[in-house]
Amino acid sequence: MDAVHNQVFFPSTMQDLFASWNRFPDAVPFAGGVSFVRNRDDRYALTLPANILSLDGLSELQRITRTERYIEMGTMVRLNDIINLGKPIPPVFTRALNCIAGPELRSLATIGGNICYPARHLNATAPLIALDARYELRTALTSRWISAARFSSFSGPPAFNPQELLTRIRIPLEQWNYSLFKRFSDPYPEDETGGSLVFIARIQKNILTDLRVVFAGETVIRDKNSEAVLSGKHLPLDRRDIGHFMELWEAFLAELNAPGVMMKARILNFIEEAALELAD
Ligand SMILES: Cc1cc2nc3c(=O)[nH]c(=O)nc-3n(C[C@H](O)[C@H](O)[C@H](O)COP(=O)(O)OP(=O)(O)OC[C@H]3O[C@@H](n4cnc5c(N)ncnc54)[C@H](O)[C@@H]3O)c2cc1C
Repeated sequence: MDAVHNQVFFPSTMQDLFASWNRFPDAVPFAGGVSFVRNRDDRYALTLPANILSLDGLSELQRITRTERYIEMGTMVRLNDIINLGKPIPPVFTRALNCIAGPELRSLATIGGNICYPARHLNATAPLIALDARYELRTALTSRWISAARFSSFSGPPAFNPQELLTRIRIPLEQWNYSLFKRFSDPYPEDETGGSLVFIARIQKNILTDLRVVFAGETVIRDKNSEAVLSGKHLPLDRRDIGHFMELWEAFLAELNAPGVMMKARILNFIEEAALELAD
């Protein structure tokens, strides 16, 4: 007999989940479900795919563990629960999550759903790339860890294999003494010009030992060459070094087709302001 369509599966084990996915390869993972609420003619309505795999009953996706070196969380952890963890979470990540809608939505939306949103990169992406986070991806038969940078590639949807689920996120607990997060307009849902930018720096004994600048919106942008120009410099930074750093950024952005001219200008302004805070 042909399988019936329009079904919601509520697996309680990963084995059940992949068995259902195998039977219905078109089934779509459903985490908090926030992204299935669409604004049409100024009214919000739930638009659901034919077959849904609810992730709600998978207790292993709700876990949070911590070691001295990193914090690890299942992808069904809600945004508010991460914010409420407080101190161990790198401040730039907490700030990015706090900028997402209101507390009601953040208590429904999950970190996995934010990272996997297929149409564009949402708030969690830039900080997780900058912090060198790693993601666990599982299918019925395989498990692999990849960097956040590889998963949320330059543009296009996340790098999934067929019937692959994002299951865990591992964030290194390193000290970043200077961290800024900036959201340019609302990235959700249709604003193609939106995005967010992260500027984080590690300062040890008055030396800027590490710097990372990441933009994520329609595309992901990072220029390691310009970061290297300021890394190793004494604080306060010399304005000529910042000038050189900005020239590299300008040249780098000029080569890219996206984002648009206005967004490029806003990115440059923010990076320059952030760097000048470290000058005399
Ligand atoms: C009014 C409103 C305002 C918003 N404002 C912002 C904002 O300012 N910034 C921002 O970043 N976001 C914003 N969002 C988007 C919201 O943060 C994301 O849609 C949300 O984080 C998705 O989480 P979710 O748990 O509801 O995911 P879902 O909606 O359930 O899933 C999102 C997508 O990811 C897939 N998915 C989910 N989990 C997994 C997994 N573990 N493995 C594989 N695929 C998976 C789903 O199939 C789906 O395609 C807003 C949303 C609304 C409705």
